[in-house]
Amino acid sequence: MPKVNTKLVAWEEVVEWCRKLAEVIEGSGWRPDIIVAIARGGYVPARLLCDFLDIHDLISIQILHWGKAAEITAKAHVKYPYTIDLSEKRVLLVDDIVDTGDSIIVAKEYIENHWKPQEIRVAAMQWISPVAKIKPDYFVDEVKEWIWYQYPWTRAEDTTNFFEKIVSEKKKEGKVEWTFEELVKEFKSWYGIDVGEAYYKLSFNRLLKTGVLKKKCGCKNTYIAV
Ligand code: AMP
Repeated sequence: MPKVNTKLVAWEEVVEWCRKLAEVIEGSGWRPDIIVAIARGGYVPARLLCDFLDIHDLISIQILHWGKAAEITAKAHVKYPYTIDLSEKRVLLVDDIVDTGDSIIVAKEYIENHWKPQEIRVAAMQWISPVAKIKPDYFVDEVKEWIWYQYPWTRAEDTTNFFEKIVSEKKKEGKVEWTFEELVKEFKSWYGIDVGEAYYKLSFNRLLKTGVLKKKCGCKNTYIAV
């Protein structure tokens, strides 16, 4: 059994989810004038929704919330506050997933207070209903059991963070020596997914660059957790 419930998401699934999301929005009879993507997770879904709904106005707001390896590290907040006039506009606020809902709540409140839109509605591909503090107006999947969606746009970042988590947890148990193959094996067993050789190599190199691992002197394939 994997330690973290994780779903590996393919690009094609994202396109299908966004196509369905656009159908739900159109079916409601409501049409936004502008889409606001929550950075960074909402970028790809927002762009696809622009295409499927034929919307040409797309802007963004960055909310910081989640940290490394599927862990919350900060209180949700607007990273780069700015003000524009959306008083004539119906706004669709888009994110990939509503988990705690904090990002959506913070973004929505900020937009309402500072950009003053005529109306604002929220869309996301996934809504984790048991934990979310807000229900999006439009969604595709209601997720009843918490799971980490490994979306294609965070593959390198997640793999690196998950690697780092494994190395630090195992260090607490006294394991400090690693080979690349061992770490990949552990990753597959902890997360129950396989992201492929290219991502493992890229992420492993990031750990070397950031000094999480370093080469063991005199050993070709052995690395030490720093
Ligand atoms: P939240 O504020 O908790 O609703 O989530 C903030 C952002 O973190 C989301 O827009 C995602 O980009 C990312 N995120 C949170 N939970 C998950 C999850 N279960 N799977 C994948 N990404 C997530």
